[in-house]
Amino acid sequence: MKPFWWWTQEQIDFYNELGDFFKSIAPEEYRTRYTREFPFELFEKIGEKGYLGAAIDKEYGGLGLGCTGSCMLAEQAHFISPGLGRVLVGNMNGGLRQIIEEGNEAQKKKFLPGIAAGETGAVVITEVSAGTDAAGVALTAEKQGSKYILNGRKRFIVGAGVADRFFIYARTSNDPEMIKKHKHLTAFIVKRSEVSGITTEKINEILAFENVQNGSLIFDNVEIDEADRIGEEGQGFKIMMNGLNFERTNISATTIGWHRAMLNYIIPYSERRIQFGRPTLDQKPNQDKIAHIMERLLLLRDSVYVTAKKWDLEENIIIDASVLKAVSAAMALESAMEATQVMGGDGINDFYPIKNLFEVAKTEHIAGGTVEACEMTLYKQIFKQMPEDIQWIRREIDPVCGAPVPVYTPVEKKEALSADTLLDVLAENYRVNQGLDMTIADIQDYIDADADAVVAAIEGLVADGLAVAHVNKKTGKPDMARASYAGLSKAHPNEYYQYWKEHIDKDPRRH
Ligand SMILES: Cc1cc2nc3c(=O)[nH]c(=O)nc-3n(C[C@H](O)[C@H](O)[C@H](O)COP(=O)(O)OP(=O)(O)OC[C@H]3O[C@@H](n4cnc5c(N)ncnc54)[C@H](O)[C@@H]3O)c2cc1C
Repeated sequence: MKPFWWWTQEQIDFYNELGDFFKSIAPEEYRTRYTREFPFELFEKIGEKGYLGAAIDKEYGGLGLGCTGSCMLAEQAHFISPGLGRVLVGNMNGGLRQIIEEGNEAQKKKFLPGIAAGETGAVVITEVSAGTDAAGVALTAEKQGSKYILNGRKRFIVGAGVADRFFIYARTSNDPEMIKKHKHLTAFIVKRSEVSGITTEKINEILAFENVQNGSLIFDNVEIDEADRIGEEGQGFKIMMNGLNFERTNISATTIGWHRAMLNYIIPYSERRIQFGRPTLDQKPNQDKIAHIMERLLLLRDSVYVTAKKWDLEENIIIDASVLKAVSAAMALESAMEATQVMGGDGINDFYPIKNLFEVAKTEHIAGGTVEACEMTLYKQIFKQMPEDIQWIRREIDPVCGAPVPVYTPVEKKEALSADTLLDVLAENYRVNQGLDMTIADIQDYIDADADAVVAAIEGLVADGLAVAHVNKKTGKPDMARASYAGLSKAHPNEYYQYWKEHIDKDPRRH
């Protein structure tokens, strides 16, 4: 596919080189999926090329191509090698940004060149007690002099049994106050060769992970030097969360590769598959499915690389990355369902990679934070980052047509606060927003009074049966209100609230 106009020549060359490289290793990679072996030799080759240093600055042995570069690696690896690609992306995610952003100079010098050179790594968060609730980590790290002693277990770790480096989150405090503030976790990075006591408990057979191990680890009195702690003690949760945007963007980039692979198989395949004397590509349902996959590919590719560029420009991408991770998983599964259908029985056997894409698209809903976890983050961020986009729009009755219309200007002249003016405002709200309460701030748009005075006035109307209030559980005071039926009748005669379109009025059977 064509490069984006903002890619540098260095990035374009990297993208093209990756494409050629992954094609060159395709047979070997595919073989390891049948044999279910971890492709150590291929990993070494990738290390020699320095591809894993895409997002690492040149001074630390990387290629200095930013998040754009690491997304290119994710896309191109996954176009050919969804299995191997998982480790590549996992490796880039395995604490890379955390070291770059939170590590000290000595740590950057110690770990970044190794990552760039293809050392296998694993990110070690999940436990039986800590899945979506990642703060529930129970693996303990007890400080003894200049060492931390780690004890506990982890699970679902990509690269378990083969990783040379672990980025670990452990619990350093059981103080309820610290737990409440999410200051009970600490991050560590260790080279396997420098510690003892980390063993693989078991390798899980996970859907779509044919040549890449995923397993559980046991930590038995593992001594980690204080120098290998990333950030301060208690900052682990913050460090984990800060890394998510980069990770989720890269994970989403993998789905671009999957979509390209789907098109690259199903179109030529169905050109060659003759049923009823015609290629199955001529069948409209197959053409529709191909069009759907192309639609998703285009949307994903544009969004991922725009987000990566935003990251490279140091913009806050928490909303973008959460949207991408949730949507790319859903899109990939939809597309994989359609791709398998276009290829019939060949879509669900091992001899073509479409089956693997179908499976890996499902794991995408869970790995790297579930779709629901991404959507929880996204939901919270809408309120934090976009308050001006979710302002309530004031509505008024239009003097000409008598129906509610949106009004973006402030009320020209506010009323003074009294029981009557408040009831009048609540009654007017019934006309334009029937069924909705008014917040204190909504009321203050119409009445010139401070919040406490409005609250007191609402309580007065409620006591008289003229309003109904929503009471805030924390304060025990009204935070929203509407006119009661009695209030509506007191404020205006029934005709005031009536609104009929002309043609309805003209119907003689109407009463
Ligand atoms: C293929 C794969 C690779 C992985 N690789 C790694 C790795 O390398 N390192 C690592 O540390 N971990 C890894 N994981 C673990 C992964 O991060 C967790 O599986 C994931 O965070 C979900 O945790 P869980 O499986 O315990 O599900 P649970 O947390 O038990 O969730 C079960 C379901 O409940 C939903 N749910 C839970 N809480 C809420 C809530 N508050 N609101 C709404 N919905 C909720 C979830 O979204 C999910 O649908 C991997 C997982 C997979 C499948």
